[in-house]
Amino acid sequence: MHNKKGLLKLSICCLFSFFVINAFAQTHKKLKTIIVDAGHGGTDGGATGQYENSLRSKEKDVTLAISKKLIAELKKQMPDVNVVPTRTTDIYQHPKEKARIANENKGDLFLCIHADSGPLKTGRRQVGTRTVTKHKITYIGKGKKRKKKSTPYQVTEPVYEYYKIPLTINGTSVYIFGAHKTSDKLKAIKDQGADFEIETGEADSSYDPIDFSSPEGRMIANIYAKMYQEKSDKLALLVNEEVEKTGRVALGVNQRQTGIWVLQATNMPAILVETGYINNPEDERYLNSDKGQQELAEVMTKAVLRYRQQIENPVKTK
Ligand SMILES: [Zn+2]
Repeated sequence: MHNKKGLLKLSICCLFSFFVINAFAQTHKKLKTIIVDAGHGGTDGGATGQYENSLRSKEKDVTLAISKKLIAELKKQMPDVNVVPTRTTDIYQHPKEKARIANENKGDLFLCIHADSGPLKTGRRQVGTRTVTKHKITYIGKGKKRKKKSTPYQVTEPVYEYYKIPLTINGTSVYIFGAHKTSDKLKAIKDQGADFEIETGEADSSYDPIDFSSPEGRMIANIYAKMYQEKSDKLALLVNEEVEKTGRVALGVNQRQTGIWVLQATNMPAILVETGYINNPEDERYLNSDKGQQELAEVMTKAVLRYRQQIENPVKTK
């Protein structure tokens, strides 16, 4: 009895080690498919340039234009990599739809393109004056004979105009999913479990699906979530570095507290790039220009190339 139980424990242990080793082998996984998501779309316009004299541009258009250039640049620099867009036209997509496209295409990387916006303050300025008639109320007499007397008089009042003051903050920020939200990432990994392809070294081979509801499966899912987060962080830092090189403001890598659903629902490393502030005049012009869009596409491609080098040849990092 003891021997049989021991043997069973040993085989479970072996099986578990096998999956753990394979999970770690994922860190050497080749970059085969990149998903590019142009944020928002259709009825979901995202943020807008809405300050005085703004271009009134919409985030959904800016993200689509940048994404198209990014896809072209990725294909040019990495012809062997499959690049899949979530959308190529102005259509609405629920975040679930975006995540479904990413997961069904078995992406190895999810690049989510957005533009930031900040709260605008309202300013006012005097545009003229106007004459207003007011009334001074006085009372004459006492007791029952007390009478109200209204004396009109005129005053000059300033006339103001209100306007939105453009944002002063500008630059690019990169977001990764928050560590506290890994449970959602775990869910994405578990939901996609059946499609999991575990790869070792050079040869690609598929194994039986992992049962992610088992204690071993949950641990494996945890390993994947941690690994995805490390990879996402690695790429996010590279994007930030490449932005810095252009001389534009690089605002760093953040974990958004409110959570970015799509980053957590994708079964792969994922980053969200807030390319610039659409309600900052300088950034809005940059985001809408061919030059700015192309520079952003090149910046992100350079970061992905360095990321690819790091994950595929971890020994020769840098
Ligand atoms: Zn957005």
